[in-house]
Amino acid sequence: MCWMSKRVQGLPPYVFSVIHEKKAHLQAKGIDVIDLGIGAPDLPTPYFIVEKMIAELAKPKNFTYSPYEGCEEFREAIAAFYEKHYSVQLDPKTEILTLIGSKEGIANIFPALIDKGDTVLIPDPGYPVYRTAAYLAGAECLHLPLDAKNQYRPLFSELSIDTCQNAKMMVLNYPSNPTAATVDLAVFQEAISFAKKYRIAVIHDAAYALVTFGDYAAPSIMQVPGAKDIAVEFGSLSKSFNMTGWRIGYVVGNKDMIRALATIKSNIDSSQFLPIQKAAAAAMLSDFTTVVDNNQVYEERLHTMLSALRTIGIEVEEPQGTFFIWARVPPTYTSTQFTEKLLEEAGVVITPGNAFGPSGEGYFRLSLSVPTVRLKEAAARMKNLERRGG
Ligand SMILES: *Cc1c(COP(=O)(O)O)cnc(C)c1O
Repeated sequence: MCWMSKRVQGLPPYVFSVIHEKKAHLQAKGIDVIDLGIGAPDLPTPYFIVEKMIAELAKPKNFTYSPYEGCEEFREAIAAFYEKHYSVQLDPKTEILTLIGSKEGIANIFPALIDKGDTVLIPDPGYPVYRTAAYLAGAECLHLPLDAKNQYRPLFSELSIDTCQNAKMMVLNYPSNPTAATVDLAVFQEAISFAKKYRIAVIHDAAYALVTFGDYAAPSIMQVPGAKDIAVEFGSLSKSFNMTGWRIGYVVGNKDMIRALATIKSNIDSSQFLPIQKAAAAAMLSDFTTVVDNNQVYEERLHTMLSALRTIGIEVEEPQGTFFIWARVPPTYTSTQFTEKLLEEAGVVITPGNAFGPSGEGYFRLSLSVPTVRLKEAAARMKNLERRGG
């Protein structure tokens, strides 16, 4: 007897499980494995946020249900953040919604906006949640082509007229996981005009909006005039404030789409614990020096790893954001073969590119979110690998 629904049985196999098995096997033999496959920050949540959490936790009035749409403090903090960082005005009552982490909101917006059989455009390569959420909602999933030659910007011109006319929704993600691609506002302007022409709802996942390097600042799609007519943008404190386990994020933009998502959510959950929302509000109202400090750590690690990759013949253009390096595997290897080689011969875990969609084949993703000493050790092992003759 199989208790699993056909829907769950039909989910794509978990690509990471084979790697995890191999990793566990090596560890059991006493080998020190360095995991650069992880997609979450290793740094702690800044202490001012923890302190705010502790203070709010001591107030019994915070033990009740949150309003479904999230507490006012948090939604107002998001509005203030958008005003200050992007000069975008948002109505906290209708254009902002608290999420229990952005992943939840991204998954729930599929059934909120699309019906069974509707067509959605999903970035390839892209964050796997988009594809599985589309599948669970019964959507027809088409790949939005992204290409290294075009810096992984959407190639709308390669879509057939049929696809454009049928698509009901499309997903964008910049700075991007896994490709680390970043864009300027012109790319969002083009996306919004394209979406308006064919009446396609735009979902922008901005989880890495604040994880950027040097002079580069990631734009918000909401900065495009009229974006609110057709788009929503998802944000998260997970990556910028090292708060993955706290589960706090938000969505802003088109009020009808937000109302649809809020309706689904109010039938499933009852928003996030109030002290977490209030601590997150303090983070979003902060001066962002902790974010700048984190980014400096990632940038330093980035340079360490880029130099190690160069030694083994892998050239990568320096990314301007995220804590990922996305690179081609050496010639004659598949993504899986190269991943296995690094694991077996250097004890280093990376993620094969094909875990992020068919276009990821031939690539790998390496995460910089491990302590700097470990990253340096991984870099040294990779350099050694080359000396031993590849
Ligand atoms: C980590 C991540 C998220 C999810 O973040 P949470 O807010 O922790 O749910 C969403 N999108 C991308 C691309 C991510 O890498």
